[in-house]
Amino acid sequence: MDPRHAILFDPVRIGPVTAPNRFYQTPHATGFGWQRPQSGAALRGIKAEGGWGVVCTEYCSIHPSSDDSPYAFLTLWDDDDIAPLAATAEAIHAHGALAGVELWHGGFHASNRMTRVPGLGPQVQPSMFHLPATTRAMDLADIRAFRDWQRDAARRAKQAGFDIVYVYAGHDYLPFQFLSRRTNTRGDAYGGSLENRARLLREMLEDTRDAVGDTCAVAIRLAVDELHGPQGICAEAEGRDVVAMLAELPDLWDVNIAGALGNDSKSARFSAEGYQEDYIHWVKGVTTKPVVSVGRFTSPDRMAEQIRKGVQDFIGAARPSIADPFLPEKIRQGRADEIRECIGCNICRAANNEAVGLRCTQNPTMGEEWRRGWHPERIAAYPRRETALVVGAGPAGLEAALTLARRGLEVTLAEASRSLGGRVSREATLPGLATWGRVRDWRLTMLGKLPNVQIYPESRMEPGDIIDLNPDHVVLATGAHWRRDGVGVVDIAPRSFPMALTPDDIFAGAKVSGPVVILDDEHYAMGGALAEKLAREGHKVTLVTPYPQVSGWAVYTDEQGFIQERLMALGVAILPQHGIGAQAPGRARATCLTTGQAVDLPCETLVLVTGRLPDDRLWQALQGRPNLARVGDCLAPSSIADAVYSAHRHARLLGEPDHPPRRERPPHKG
Ligand code: ADP
Ligand code: SF4
Repeated sequence: MDPRHAILFDPVRIGPVTAPNRFYQTPHATGFGWQRPQSGAALRGIKAEGGWGVVCTEYCSIHPSSDDSPYAFLTLWDDDDIAPLAATAEAIHAHGALAGVELWHGGFHASNRMTRVPGLGPQVQPSMFHLPATTRAMDLADIRAFRDWQRDAARRAKQAGFDIVYVYAGHDYLPFQFLSRRTNTRGDAYGGSLENRARLLREMLEDTRDAVGDTCAVAIRLAVDELHGPQGICAEAEGRDVVAMLAELPDLWDVNIAGALGNDSKSARFSAEGYQEDYIHWVKGVTTKPVVSVGRFTSPDRMAEQIRKGVQDFIGAARPSIADPFLPEKIRQGRADEIRECIGCNICRAANNEAVGLRCTQNPTMGEEWRRGWHPERIAAYPRRETALVVGAGPAGLEAALTLARRGLEVTLAEASRSLGGRVSREATLPGLATWGRVRDWRLTMLGKLPNVQIYPESRMEPGDIIDLNPDHVVLATGAHWRRDGVGVVDIAPRSFPMALTPDDIFAGAKVSGPVVILDDEHYAMGGALAEKLAREGHKVTLVTPYPQVSGWAVYTDEQGFIQERLMALGVAILPQHGIGAQAPGRARATCLTTGQAVDLPCETLVLVTGRLPDDRLWQALQGRPNLARVGDCLAPSSIADAVYSAHRHARLLGEPDHPPRRERPPHKG
């Protein structure tokens, strides 16, 4: 180990328990929840195996009045919830880590779609789920009952074997709703002064300690700034006062920023590593208890600096632990260069927001630990010494080559271009997306360590070359290109745009002139990022989209609001709910999708960000050849995450039967 990183491996006491090191996997959603406990347990177990000294669960509801359906959350509503959660605690303990559970009540942030129990909160408040529903204000009897729920859930958590039990006052959830005067207008002992607004939080900490504090540490997760200035909880004013007021009550402070989850887990496009430090650096000066926070830390130097500077006692991480569950072990073994660095794309957030199991762009095994038995660091050797040719060195080709080589095949990777990385090398040049290049960089680093891989750039393969080479296996990862016929997600009629450019043309250096119109009918990153790039280069840009908002799919990565804000600040004109039917010299015709009304936009350059078509020429030519496969965008153009996954899956399953993934099904009688 690099001696500068030794400080990261100090044990740290947290109340009655001791963490074996400073690597702390803070609570994060998995998309598994109470419905898929074995998947959750296996995922957390892998984190502990990878060296995280503390591994926490996702949010765990204390009562049916806090139901986040259709999103996946855990429950400790009754004793039947204990056994499934005990499996998670056991999986974590098996590797010597401490297990934390994030007890949760969402207040007016819970949908209760499944339980159909009216929501509860400090005041009468429209539900934050855009439902025509309203939470009712808690009276004193409700507050007493609520305190019992927290106590009961804490006892069950202890029975399940957890070492750290949370009081969760972050992300706009119930105790935070009491704390902030933006959401608490009560006139009783729980409203008014900060002391009154913090009363419930204080009581929850005391109750939790009374219930389980003899053997369990009590952690508080607090948003010290909700980014609404002094109107709300903010670091310079009431955020600091609350920490001072409750300083010694919990055994651990887990602090972050909130307002919404999007602020806490901001993508790399809108935040740098360590971005929360400005908001939380003072906390350690106000309490003697250990402090943990997050900031998408992937650099061990930066982590050690956080500890030395006294910003935190632990390195808190959700996303870096998803991208690389073995990050701590790699640092410990002096293999920091092998850390699969999180790229900050928030595809993991999208999984939860789409109510499906966790996934990660960098780590294709994430979420597959139980259902497919995939391990991020171990893979079965291929039974025979065979050769494989991988064509194309984009994310899919790099992943296929790496995984096949890890399995022991003799791999040749041929790439037409001089540079490797395919689409990520292009997309990483867009504003804010430089970290996407890590998808390429990590794979090249790892490939460089393997003796059984030869990489040939500037080697465009033709069908005859492949036939002559005659490898045992051929994997085509030749990618995709952007369509020129306007066919997108919403507008599926092919049209003719002889003068239009696509993102490929722009990356290839095509001249952009005059007023620019971008048609975004893809709705993820490309349209907004190109609009930003061209606006920054001084072009007058109009972004036309059939959706009601720009980059509509980016709501799932928690980025949509930030993208729209940035484009508006740059003066990009936005024309929602429109398509582009035709282009003529000097103009593009936009049509309203609701009324059919047309408007001519000044346009010298039209950029079509619509669908993509696979580059499957080699596939078509070689079809029928045994052991031929296509992966990534060449199979089905999609996200980088899907390209990596597709390649990994193919390479991992090579020679294996392709069973459907295991599903967690209730026991079946008869
Ligand atoms: P994916 O996301 O599926 O990895 P990319 O478009 O990023 O797809 O990468 C595909 C790569 O394949 C590109 O770098 C491209 O230059 C390369 N490629 C395409 N056709 C050939 C070919 N015939 N021979 C070698 N490389 C090719
Ligand atoms: Fe990081 Fe993206 Fe993986 Fe999330 S999906 S952990 S942001 S690389």
